[in-house]
Amino acid sequence: MTFEALGLNTSIIKALTDAGYTAPTPVQQQAVPAAIAGKDLLVSSQTGSGKTAAFMLPSLHRLAAIEPAAAGKTPNQEMQSARARNERPRFKAAQPKMLVLTPTRELALQVTTNTDKYSVNLRRIKAVSILGGMPYPKQMQLLAKNPEILVATPGRLIDHMESGKIDFSQLEILVLDEADRMLDMGFIDDIEKIVAATPDNRQTMLFSATLDGVVGNMARRITKDPQVIQIMSAANKHENITQRVHFVDDLSHKNRLLDHLLRDESLDQAVVFTATKRDADTIADRLNIAGFSAAALHGDMHQGARNRTLDSLRRGSVKILIATDVAARGIDVPTITHVFNYDLPKFPEDYVHRIGRTGRAGRNGHAISLVNHAEGMNVKRIERFTKQLIPVNVVEGYEPKKTGSAPRSSRPGGWKPGDNRGGAKPGQRSFSKPGSSSGAPRRDGVSGSNEGYKGPGFKANNPYNSDRPRRSYGDR
Ligand code: AMP
Repeated sequence: MTFEALGLNTSIIKALTDAGYTAPTPVQQQAVPAAIAGKDLLVSSQTGSGKTAAFMLPSLHRLAAIEPAAAGKTPNQEMQSARARNERPRFKAAQPKMLVLTPTRELALQVTTNTDKYSVNLRRIKAVSILGGMPYPKQMQLLAKNPEILVATPGRLIDHMESGKIDFSQLEILVLDEADRMLDMGFIDDIEKIVAATPDNRQTMLFSATLDGVVGNMARRITKDPQVIQIMSAANKHENITQRVHFVDDLSHKNRLLDHLLRDESLDQAVVFTATKRDADTIADRLNIAGFSAAALHGDMHQGARNRTLDSLRRGSVKILIATDVAARGIDVPTITHVFNYDLPKFPEDYVHRIGRTGRAGRNGHAISLVNHAEGMNVKRIERFTKQLIPVNVVEGYEPKKTGSAPRSSRPGGWKPGDNRGGAKPGQRSFSKPGSSSGAPRRDGVSGSNEGYKGPGFKANNPYNSDRPRRSYGDR
């Protein structure tokens, strides 16, 4: 399959060749022709699958086909003409043709950067990001150019919409990128408001890790006769990423093991995920003192500092990024070989997003979780969500003192035998085993009690599910 066969125009194909793309990814193969034909799309695919190009390439193709005359004057040109006519220039709202909504600023910037790459030969088409944290005068300058494409986080966009700076009456294409994440972050009302301000005859494309539940309901409301595309690629299942768990006794054990693993020869660059911003800073400081080139990335940092850190990571001057979930979402640096969960994520979905920072663009990667004995249940939740077993590994000289203390039973609703795609390797102990939900005695002699598990409503009793810093975990 080639990009030509997808029906894209030659200017776009040339840009893709120059960017080193030789063939479309599975999601692009399915989405591009349907979107060029004007269909609404509901796409379930993860970041890393090439989803940005899947919605941006057909959109650029369609926008490039619009006659320049129909594109109208920019607000700046209108003001100049008014001055030439000796009239008082009136403010004119930007009228974008395409809007991409993303959950985070980083993802928005990445979408804009990729769009610039794909549209390098389409001089008339401009894309700009409208983001929280960016100074208003700068945003007004960008909007005054009347860009064809706006890439925005919902909150800031609403501000501009409500103050009349943006008019969506000419909008042709609406994209919701990582829709599940936007809903998780509480953007539903903003999204509904934005969608309501766009024309009914727009084309809508929704991308999401899942199309179930709340996302599915919203997707059905805002699309018309959509084509549903479900991509279960190797990257989706992260089959190119070797996952493992190391149990640790306490914070000091965790830090020593982390330092040791960070010195692995196969490690080029790494992201270390922490639960709190403060931990990200503390660990970055500690690693720098230990001789690593490390930097923290989290939401308390100014946008400028975040961008500088990401640039350093891309250039390779930062080797180890210590990050929180939101800040690291969407980071796309192909030289990241390892992801570490210094703390496990709150939600299993975040585990999938986190480990997807490695194994980019068809490479292999390593995802290593450093887990306190008390957190065994949370590993199981992740295993159930991903339907993959995560092998437990022990490094000689860094063995945990405590063994077998973690709850090791399966809970009802676990996956079934044969679902194991992660696969513990011979000689590795898997944390939990398919079939153990039967309550039958286990071959390894570990008790099958559901100690600590309080049923579906266990949120209140489980520090793992709490928004409080997890100091009660025993290692803080
Ligand atoms: P995304 O899923 O949009 O985050 O894309 C993941 C990475 O794959 C990005 O670095 C893209 O530049 C890259 N990419 C997207 N499509 C292709 C393609 N057809 N060939 C090679 N790389 C691609």
